[in-house]
Amino acid sequence: MVFRLLVFVLFISVVSAQSTYQVKAGDSLSAIARAYQVSLNDLITLNELANPDLLEVGQLLLIPSIVDLSSPLPSPFLSLEFEPKTTVQGEIQILTVTLETDGALELSYLGNVLPGIQKGTDYQFLLVTPVLQSAGPTNLHLSTYSGENKADLFYPITVQEGSYERENINLSGETSSLLAPEIVNREHALLNTTCSSFSPSRKWSGSFQYPIENPDFSSPFGTLRSYNNGPVSGYHRGLDFRGQTGTLVHATASGTVTLAETLELYGNTVIIDHGLGVCSAYMHLSEIDTDLGQEVTQGEIIGKVGATGLVTGPHLHFEIRVMGVPVSPQQWFHELRW
Ligand SMILES: [Zn+2]
Repeated sequence: MVFRLLVFVLFISVVSAQSTYQVKAGDSLSAIARAYQVSLNDLITLNELANPDLLEVGQLLLIPSIVDLSSPLPSPFLSLEFEPKTTVQGEIQILTVTLETDGALELSYLGNVLPGIQKGTDYQFLLVTPVLQSAGPTNLHLSTYSGENKADLFYPITVQEGSYERENINLSGETSSLLAPEIVNREHALLNTTCSSFSPSRKWSGSFQYPIENPDFSSPFGTLRSYNNGPVSGYHRGLDFRGQTGTLVHATASGTVTLAETLELYGNTVIIDHGLGVCSAYMHLSEIDTDLGQEVTQGEIIGKVGATGLVTGPHLHFEIRVMGVPVSPQQWFHELRW
């Protein structure tokens, strides 16, 4: 009897761990977030604050409480499974959330609501951690709704540092002129938009394949970059393959061609949408051998290696993005399977 009572008390303490705070004169939301060691964004979403700058004295705020992983998850959350287990800068994880009953589930990570797919009481998400995300503790915020009832879960995770190097690229005056910020920004925005659409059907299975046969890598993904010895202004968003002009380029996985055109910075470019917010991009091609809207299968020829756009020689710049965020292609060739 004593044992059963103890279990009951422990369970209640997990469920009711969410505390409240009454706003005092002179408080700011960021100061409250710091005091409770929670993220500003979690405080805003949990309390559904339309304008975080407008706090009223006496207002009650719910304080997110990070779940204690040594206890069972509070109802209606049954489990969270991560594949792979560790969260690393520039990599993705497949997250499966299981609930007791099916209902609406929303997942926020690093300030973004991520779309997912539902199969009964299982929900799958692709968790994307950007290269420039700072390493250290953060959390996932999950909300479920059933009728009028809302349940929130703040789940702790720790972002590990990726092993990325730093490099400087010297550009001549002529090529530097192509780096006008408006051109760079426009092309990055175009890639971001083209790769940010989410369709719930997955068009690939298994692993992704190399876009070039017998690959020889010239520059890895994620290297932190500066130009002409300036400050770090970004990172290498793709993986570079050595190749002579004319070397065949293959689709890394099945999907739909959502871009096939000539850009100033990236030259002749092809983008394939694989579903679930995942896309692959192939740049600096000498020739595009596919069309916008075409359905391609894994391994199909979509172009040839070239030196178009801002380059110092022929090579293939290859990217994989998830919801617009560039991620490590090596993970897709080797680690991830579906
Ligand atoms: Zn590159």
